[in-house]
Amino acid sequence: MSERSLKRLAGVHPRLVALVKEAASLTPVDFMVTEGLRTRERQMALIRAGASRTKNSRHLTGHAVDVAAMVDGQVRWDWPLYPRIAAAFKAAAARQGTAIVWGGDWPTLRDGPHFELDRKAFP
Ligand SMILES: [Zn+2]
Repeated sequence: MSERSLKRLAGVHPRLVALVKEAASLTPVDFMVTEGLRTRERQMALIRAGASRTKNSRHLTGHAVDVAAMVDGQVRWDWPLYPRIAAAFKAAAARQGTAIVWGGDWPTLRDGPHFELDRKAFP
């Protein structure tokens, strides 16, 4: 994990940090962490910009992270990269016994870069 990615995990729930680290070692597609803990001001700015619809984001409590796929040192948003990263997160989650939700599995407003701890297990 890059220094920058590690910095962005500051304030994130330790179980999620452990997952991110193991996923990074398992994934066939490199990724960096783009966002972890988020301030309420930033959440409101994202809502105003249309990038988020919830005032109840898991980022506000350190229960979510966003990642960006990296190919040959460059960020890529191509959708097919994200299920491959998600598979690494799910494998790490199964090994660590941590319930997670991938935003790419949401039926509406699918969010490929987003991973969060399951609210049922981590309220
Ligand atoms: Zn997110």
